[in-house]
This record gives sequence, structure tokens and C-alpha cells, in this order.
Amino acid sequence: MAFKRYLFKNLWLQVVISLMAGLGVGLLLGDEVGLGLDGDALDAMSSYLKIPANIFLSVILMIIVPLIFASIVVAITNLGAKEKLKTLGLGIGVYFVITTTIAILIAITLASIIAPGNILDLTALQETHDLSEDDLRVTEGFSLEDIPETVSSIIPRNPIVSYLEGQMFSILIMAVIVGLSMATLPKDSIKPLLDLLESIQRITLHILLMAMKIVPFAVFGLIVSLVAKVGAETMAGLGVYMVTVILGLGAMLLVYATIIRLVAKRPVSFTFSRFRNPQTLAFSTASSMATMPMTLKTAEEDLKLDTRVSKFVIPLGTTVNMDGTALYQVIAVFFLAQLFAIELSLLSVLVIIVTSLLASIGTPAVPGAGTVVLSTILITVGIPPVGILLLLSVDRILDMIRTMVNVTGDLTASCAFDRITRSKN
Ligand code: ASP
Repeated sequence: MAFKRYLFKNLWLQVVISLMAGLGVGLLLGDEVGLGLDGDALDAMSSYLKIPANIFLSVILMIIVPLIFASIVVAITNLGAKEKLKTLGLGIGVYFVITTTIAILIAITLASIIAPGNILDLTALQETHDLSEDDLRVTEGFSLEDIPETVSSIIPRNPIVSYLEGQMFSILIMAVIVGLSMATLPKDSIKPLLDLLESIQRITLHILLMAMKIVPFAVFGLIVSLVAKVGAETMAGLGVYMVTVILGLGAMLLVYATIIRLVAKRPVSFTFSRFRNPQTLAFSTASSMATMPMTLKTAEEDLKLDTRVSKFVIPLGTTVNMDGTALYQVIAVFFLAQLFAIELSLLSVLVIIVTSLLASIGTPAVPGAGTVVLSTILITVGIPPVGILLLLSVDRILDMIRTMVNVTGDLTASCAFDRITRSKN
């Protein structure tokens, strides 16, 4: 009875059970140990199994733009006291850049020492993926020409288009601009909009929390399809590459533990145990965006953080702070460079650092996005983007782990800034 109650209250446990069940059923249906259903039958089955996951994602996408916009505007407006806003706004920007740079440096170190791409044989992969010589052509990379264009288009000229197309970064910039001006205007002139945004925030959060109820089913469907389709053998082929990424992500968790101890001044294992719900959800949905309501809830209810801090840092971090993604992207670039025998000059390494920093900021917090954005980095460095095909078979697994790290990074940042802003009071 007690277990039943515990199970009902703890989403992470429901998710873990779904993961296990999905793993078992997936193995049973796949061709390595189980029934060996053929590709068509598996496709048909997984399209049904994925219904709960698709419904869940649709609810998220339906609600996420107003939620992010409202959360950031309300948070900035409520931070009110200018000193606090300055500490938080500037500080958090610098903090995000520093932690992402640490993630990138860890990735470069590991990828250079382990050199996962030197172990694999390109021709074998070429055959299994049916790639032509043309696909594999190494191109001239790196052009500085795109920079002015990108910088000039940061501010959305047409916010409606950004809304309709779900361009999160533009929406974020607009939310910051609106929030900053609302914070400086007299209270009575902004009250109507503030009230409206606050109720939008409450309603959308409520919808999302209700949608969480189908997560265990969504997870089950996703895992069954994944395990049945990508057998263990494919994964083993890219094993060293996967191990490199996982080691890097593990190192990043150690960095967070240090920040929690030294900056947030909280007990590490106790704090990490509070992260469990959003971490399991991030792991199973592979989307920091889908996890955001749970991340916010954990920050406010379990960690008891200042809600003005959490309501600012979490939506912002979810959108722009992706240490796990940056780390994965850099290891993937090195892996492919090694595989295609491309010498990376110091300049190329610098370009990789800058582009992956920007790319992780621009990566949408949804499943697989990091891999799509990876193609931009590859083109910039001159590596054939078709290389991504080689990584796709194991991508979902790495996506699950890096998303968990992304969410842990946002929670760690919130704990750190909760401490920093409190001690400034
Ligand atoms: N799935 C990741 C996230 O939502 C993004 C990525 O693909 O790296 O955080």
C-alpha cells in the first residue's frame, strides 16, 4: 500500500518502471534475442506505441511559446529592484557562457585523448549506409561572412512570425526587451498586461502539469520502438564514441556538484536527490522544454528557491543553456573529423569552440535538435554533414543523457543564483 502511494506520487519512479518495461518488450520484439519482427511490422507497431509521446509533445508545443514568454516577462518585471535584476541578468549570461565553455573544453580534451574516430573504419560505415564518394567530400569550411547577418537578425522584426514559427531565441529576446521596459515603467501602467501574463503563466503551467500524467506511457512507447529497432550490435559499433560522450557528460555532472558545493553552498547529494524528478523526465523525453514545468516545480517546491530567480533562470536556461548539447556536439565534430582523417588546425578548434557555444544557445530544447544543429558546425569546419547519418543510430540514447545534463545545468544555475542574489540582499 505504502509503495502504491509512493509510486503514485513519484513520477520518476513511474518513468523508471516504464523504461524497464519498454526495454524488456523492445528486446522481445527486436531480432537479437526476441521475436525478430521485420522492419515494416516494427514501423507499424511503433507508430501506435508513439501516440502518447506525440500527444504529449503536441501539448508542449501548443503551450510552450506563451509559457516561456509570460514566464520571462513576469520574472523580469517582478525582479523589479534594479540591483537584483542587474546581478541576475548580467551574472547569469556570464555564468552560462563559462559553464558551456567548460563543457566544450572537457569535450575537446576527451575527444583528443580517446580519439574515438580513429578506431572506426570509414569504408565499412560507408557500405552500411550506402554513401557515395560525393557525400563524403570534404569542403572548404569557415566563413566569417555569416556573422553580420546572424547578429543583425537577432532582434525579431516581426514578432508574430517568430511566434508562429516557434523561433524560441527571438521570442526570448523580445520577452527580455518587454520585461526590461515593464520593470522601469510605473506600476499602474503595466498592471493590466502583468495580470494577463501572470494568468497565462498559471494556466499554461497547469495544462503542462496535467499532461505529465501521460509521460510514463509516452516513455514506454518510445523505448520499445528504440530498443526493437536499434539492436545492440549497431550500438556496439559506435561504442567508443558513445563512451566518450558519456564520460564527458559525467565530468560535467562533477562540475555541477562542485558549483552546488562551493557557490550554492548546499549539500551535494541531498540537492542532487531533489533533481531526480526532472532528471528522469529529461532522460525519458529527451527534451528540456518538455521537462521545464517539472524543472520549475522542483526548483520552487523541493529546492525552495526564490521564485523570482527560478522563474527567470529556468525558462532562460532551458532555451539557451545547453552544456550537454555543446559537449556532445564538440565530441561528434572531433569524432567525424578523425573518421574522415581531417587535421584540425588551431584555428579550426577555435572556430569549433565559438560555433558550438553559439549553436548550443540556438539549439531548440526538443528531441534530436542538437544533432540537426550539429550540421551547421560541421559545414563551418568543412566536414561532410552526411557524417551525421553515421551518428543517428545511437543518437537517441545520447540525446536522453545530454538532455538530463542540460536540465541539471539549469537547476544548478538556479541554486547558484538563488544563493548569490540572497547574499546580496
Ligand atoms: N534534446 C536536447 C534538449 O532538449 C537538445 C539536444 O538535442 O541536444 O535539451
